[in-house]
Amino acid sequence: MTPTVYFIGAGPGDPELLTLKGHRVIGEADIIIYAGSLVNPEVIAHRKPEARVYNSAGMNLQEITDLMIEASEKGLMLARVHTGDPSIYGSIREQIEVIEPQGVTYEVIPGVSSFVASAAALGKEFTVPEISQTVICTRFEGRTPVPDLEQIELLASHQTSMAIFLSVQMMGSLCERLMTHYPANTPVAVVEKATWPEQRIVRGTLADIAGKIEEAGIRKTAMILVGRFLGEEYNYSKLYDATFTHEYRKGIQE
Ligand code: SAH
Repeated sequence: MTPTVYFIGAGPGDPELLTLKGHRVIGEADIIIYAGSLVNPEVIAHRKPEARVYNSAGMNLQEITDLMIEASEKGLMLARVHTGDPSIYGSIREQIEVIEPQGVTYEVIPGVSSFVASAAALGKEFTVPEISQTVICTRFEGRTPVPDLEQIELLASHQTSMAIFLSVQMMGSLCERLMTHYPANTPVAVVEKATWPEQRIVRGTLADIAGKIEEAGIRKTAMILVGRFLGEEYNYSKLYDATFTHEYRKGIQE
């Protein structure tokens, strides 16, 4: 059974970073709702000429879910296109909670999240042996509160690799609170509009990045990456170490 609604991860910007499945569904959809402020319009450029297109930026939740219910009643296919991956700050749950009780069938198609696209833009790996084996995806508390146990100082106390969404406009207070646990010289990189033609990268440390961001005038659509994984230290993975034996290879005896 083909579902009515597809929640599709559009990826970070570059239209080639859309999955083949997402690309196919957008090409077949009768109705497309996309987040116009964040999704590159090129991602939906191959739609059917007769497809109805809506920009969710100017719509409320009910207007969106009404279209989904209408599609279900009329046997149409609807593509709901979200930036990055829908499972991260995608607000798909509130849509599903309305349509599921109405019998509207749906499927989620994952996408390339901006946090991995930003690491790729920097040519960096979040998990570096003996430096960090964990990456925390979070946001700084602004108008949207975060649960008490996820206060930024508590997360910072682990000194893991961190990817911070939706927070570049609060860079100064964010860095101050991160410095309660990370050393002030911890590397930080801010990637604005990762994978778009106008992508910009600003590098610094927790102590100086806020000033650099202010100077660059970066206020939105930016990913903040924090941690020693951005630095020069490196402990090479044992996987390719000539003396390390594992399932597929016998190590050379020293
Ligand atoms: N679902 C999305 C995140 C949506 S929240 C994802 O998986 O990427 C919106 C936030 O994501 C922005 O404030 C910014 O922090 C980040 N973001 C989205 N697209 C981005 C891009 N191309 N480059 C850098 N950050 C991006």
